[in-house]
Amino acid sequence: MTQDPRTCADGGPALSVGDLLTRARALGVARLDAQVLLTHFTGLSRSHLITREGLPLEPAVSQSLMQALLRRADGVPLAYLTGWREFFGLRLQVGPAVLDPRADTEVLVEWALDALHRLSEGSATSARPLAVVDLGTGSGAIALALATEVAAGRAPAATITATDRAEDALAVAAGNADRMGLALQLRQGAWWDAVANERFDLAVSNPPYIRADDPHLPALRHEPRHALVAGDDGLDDLRTLVACAPDHLHPGGWLLLEHGHDQGAAVARLLCDQGFQDVQHRHDLAGHCRCTGGRWMPPGND
Ligand code: GLN
Repeated sequence: MTQDPRTCADGGPALSVGDLLTRARALGVARLDAQVLLTHFTGLSRSHLITREGLPLEPAVSQSLMQALLRRADGVPLAYLTGWREFFGLRLQVGPAVLDPRADTEVLVEWALDALHRLSEGSATSARPLAVVDLGTGSGAIALALATEVAAGRAPAATITATDRAEDALAVAAGNADRMGLALQLRQGAWWDAVANERFDLAVSNPPYIRADDPHLPALRHEPRHALVAGDDGLDDLRTLVACAPDHLHPGGWLLLEHGHDQGAAVARLLCDQGFQDVQHRHDLAGHCRCTGGRWMPPGND
């Protein structure tokens, strides 16, 4: 016997768009998130959803949607449920192997682009493309944003390398690069170990920087812990990045780092103690000190 399309697979009545929105509200899922999920699973536009709340959904679709709403209510990032995230105007595929890219990190991209322009205006590097590395790339967000600008001619010529210790993260970055037709040099390994004998004009990183006892961590439990947590003070990976940078930067090269909203002074101190110059900060969209960086001038070279 064929199933009545107005009934769910479990025999209940077919759910409409409006029913799903009501259930989403009852689960505490934000209306916009519910609309994004409805759009994703039905293929209908948001305006269609608004004008057709009574539209019954295919049982398989409403079941998938209910699953997704329950997972969203449990704190799974929306991007993991739809499979993609917009970052710096790019459509990135993301999943539980990688951090869900945050809009705050676009500040780091903007700063990196400024640094590339300034480097290309300097004389020392004009004969070759600039060498850039994104350490701990995850989905490839930062590296691909920079590669897009380079490919479009809006940033100086540069080769972009992206590293990650996690093989499954590198696979996500490689997939995104392929889909976008962008060239990334991918290297597996922990931080600078991934690029053992290489030097760069610009190194950027959004490393893990959350303290192991941070009360916000439970809310981030669906994202890879190794992409979020960095020791008791959240600075373990930032320390490694700063300490080994002199072995991997050309003279005059920049190291630009994202960090927690209250870590700007600590990261500046790490950079200054290591001998970096021009140490400075950038603020995120909420006005928090979110990125700190400096320029490596080997002693005797300035
Ligand atoms: N900015 C992220 C958050 O606080 C953390 C990202 C990271 O640790 N690099 O949720």
